[in-house]
Amino acid sequence: MSDQNTVRDTVILGSGCSGLTAAIYAARSNLKPLVLEGHEPGGQLSITTLVENFPGWPDGVQGPELIENMKKQAARFGAEIRMAHLTSVDLTKSPFELTVGKDIILTRSLIIASGASARWLGLPSEQALIGFGVSSCATCDGFFASGKEIAVIGGGDSAMEEALFLTRFATKVTIINRSENFRASRIMLERAIAHPQIEFLHNTLVEEAIGVEEKDLKGLKLQNRKTGERWTLPVSFMFLGIGHIPNASMFKGQIDLDGDGYIKTEHNVFCTNQGIQLHGVYACGDVQDRRYRQAITAAGTGCMAALEVEKYLEELGR
Ligand code: NAP
Repeated sequence: MSDQNTVRDTVILGSGCSGLTAAIYAARSNLKPLVLEGHEPGGQLSITTLVENFPGWPDGVQGPELIENMKKQAARFGAEIRMAHLTSVDLTKSPFELTVGKDIILTRSLIIASGASARWLGLPSEQALIGFGVSSCATCDGFFASGKEIAVIGGGDSAMEEALFLTRFATKVTIINRSENFRASRIMLERAIAHPQIEFLHNTLVEEAIGVEEKDLKGLKLQNRKTGERWTLPVSFMFLGIGHIPNASMFKGQIDLDGDGYIKTEHNVFCTNQGIQLHGVYACGDVQDRRYRQAITAAGTGCMAALEVEKYLEELGR
C-alpha cells in the first residue's frame, strides 16, 4: 500500500469522533482525505454504550452506531479509511512524511485526531491480570462478569457509566474512589447512588490485585487513605474507569505538548513547535482537549481542523 510517489492533500490520524468529522468536512471539500485507523478503531465512542447527550438523538444513540454512521458519511464523500499503525512522523520535511511499517505516506497537511487511551493504575499485579479479570472496557468485557461481584475504580463519569452498565451482569458493583469527593456529573452520580446493586468506597486505594499465580482475579487488597486500615475485597472482576492518556507521545520534540502529554493548541486546533505555529498541522478531539472531552466538542474541533486545512491548501494554491 505504498503511497511513496503520491502526495496527499491531507491525512487524518485517528478514526474517532473528531477524526471522522474532519474526514466528512475534508471529503466534502474534495480533498480525498486518508484516515489512518489505529489500534482503537472508532475511538472511545466505539467502546461506549448509550450516548444521551449528542444533539439530534432525543432517545440517545449507541456509541458504535454513531461512529459507524460517521464512517459511512465520510466514505460517501470520498474519504479513504485504512487500518494502519503509524510508526514515526517527520514534520520537518515538506511534504510531511508519515511512516507506517515499511511504507511512507507523504502529505501536505496533517490532522491529528489520535485521541486518548484508557489509564491504568500501573500495579504489576493489575498488568499481569489484564484479560484475566482486569479490564478497562466494560462494554467489551461486561458479559464475563455475569453473576459475579465486581469492582469499578474511579470517581468520574466514566466510572459511574461503567458501574451502571455493569449492573446488567454483575450481582454487586463496588465503586472504589481514591478521593473523598467525586468528579462525576451530578446526574450520573445520582443514578449510581440510587442503584441498589452499587456500593461505594471512598478514600480507598487499590494496593494489589490478587490472583496472579492462578491467572484469575480473586480480590483486591485495599487501603483507606485516611485511617490506614487495610483489607481484602473479594471480587472476580476489576474495571478501570480512571481517565485517559493522550496518544501524542510520537510527536514529542516536534509539536508542543503540555505537562500531561496533551497537544497544546492555539485558536482551538493550530499546533506549535517551541511556541511557533507549525503550518499545515492541526490537532482536534481528545488528544488536545483536557477540559471538555465530549463527543460533540471532539466533533466541533474536527470540523475546525478540516476547515483550517482547506484554508491552508488554498494558500498553497491547491
Ligand atoms: P475524570 O473525570 O478525569 O475522572 C477520573 C477519575 O479517576 C477521578 O475520580 C480520579 O480521581 C480517578 N483517578 C485518576 N487516576 C487514578 C489513579 N491512578 N488511581 C485511582 N483513581 C484515579 O475522567 P473520566 O471519568 O474518564 O471523564 C472524562 C471526561 O469525559 C469528563 O469530562 C466526563 O464528563 C466525560 N464523560 C462523560 C460521560 C457521559 O456524559 N456519559 C461518560 C464518560 C466520560 P481523583 O479525583 O482523585 O483525581
